[in-house]
Amino acid sequence: MAPVREQTIFRNAKLADGSLADLSVTDGRFSAIAPAGKAPPARPAATDPIMVDLGGQLVVPAFVEGHIHLDTSFHGDAWRPHIPCTNGFDVRERVAFQAQNLAAAAPMAERAKNQLELCVGHGSLAMRSHVMVDASVGLSHVETVLAVRETYRDLIDIQLVAFPQSGILSSPGTAELLDEALKFGCDLIGGLDPASFDRDVKGHLDVVFGLAQKHGAGVDIHLHDGGTLGLFQVEEIAARTKALGMAGHVAVSHAYGLGDIPADALAKAGEMLAAAGVAIMTNAPGNHAFPPVAALRQAGVTVFSGSDNIRDSWWPYGDGDMLSRANMIGYRSGFYEDRELADAFDVVTHAGAKALRLADYGIMVGAKADFVAMRALHVPEAVVAVPKDRTVYRRGKAVARDGTILAR
Ligand SMILES: [Zn+2]
Repeated sequence: MAPVREQTIFRNAKLADGSLADLSVTDGRFSAIAPAGKAPPARPAATDPIMVDLGGQLVVPAFVEGHIHLDTSFHGDAWRPHIPCTNGFDVRERVAFQAQNLAAAAPMAERAKNQLELCVGHGSLAMRSHVMVDASVGLSHVETVLAVRETYRDLIDIQLVAFPQSGILSSPGTAELLDEALKFGCDLIGGLDPASFDRDVKGHLDVVFGLAQKHGAGVDIHLHDGGTLGLFQVEEIAARTKALGMAGHVAVSHAYGLGDIPADALAKAGEMLAAAGVAIMTNAPGNHAFPPVAALRQAGVTVFSGSDNIRDSWWPYGDGDMLSRANMIGYRSGFYEDRELADAFDVVTHAGAKALRLADYGIMVGAKADFVAMRALHVPEAVVAVPKDRTVYRRGKAVARDGTILAR
């Protein structure tokens, strides 16, 4: 007997090109996209299709949360006033504040779950989370977040980065722990300011890329160093990516240096990153120089985004909404034209999917039916208006509405 196929037809969906369409979803994937009123009949052997009228709502692919820290947020826990550094921004001091805060926080699994639900509620159904690994916490954060990932597997796809929050060479034992974390189930190896934190670019990157090669893992490095020091490290990362044939598997998060170098140096860097296949993650941070999104995209670089910290020991901001992040990217980038607003949207959708190497992503036949429906004229208007009343569909089933997870 043929298996029973489950089919839903979403009528009157507004697509990115403004046309109205009927979207058929069979067993969790888009099986047909036809002009409204012309959905093909249900396939033989299907049960009666479920009909959902979207009433002209804009349908877009689910957002990609490309950089977050599930283990260190206090979202849903008590409010923790930000503690400023004593003598200018200092990563080591911030890590110490974080340790203090975490010691008094609600259990990590509960906080991670709060943050996950916040993100899914706004329409992110794929995520990359960095998870702290160092000598003080060992693999405890990784173990907790791996378990949370398992619990939420049906709701969201999560990639985990083994993140050396306290450096690698300057924190003895960390290289071995990172190796273990990758064996345990982390998908990528992280890094942290090879120059300013470990003061040994070659040594730091030897460990990171060595472990990536050993485990067949991707790389995503936190790089806050600015100016030419930042640029130098971006060059080193690109050179290794190229030499190891890892195009498409390497990302640099923040890369602030790209935001404060002369235009000619940026043009060269963009060319180099595109050729090497290194993606750049930016969250368009508050009062900080950040990688120029338009120039990098024009050079062919994959630029993606994430919330990064949400109500943690680093800053109090963040709402887990990647549409509002697209708005921030556009706002800070001086994007006004429709095509520019659409570019900001691409950063939190298709470009994110490319950086995370998500398979079968988008509103197209054969793709997983992970999408968001909302009231908006079109994509550029959605980026400007950031409508909060949305319905989030995972594999064709509603999982969240207006920011709240529906009963599973
Ligand atoms: Zn981060």
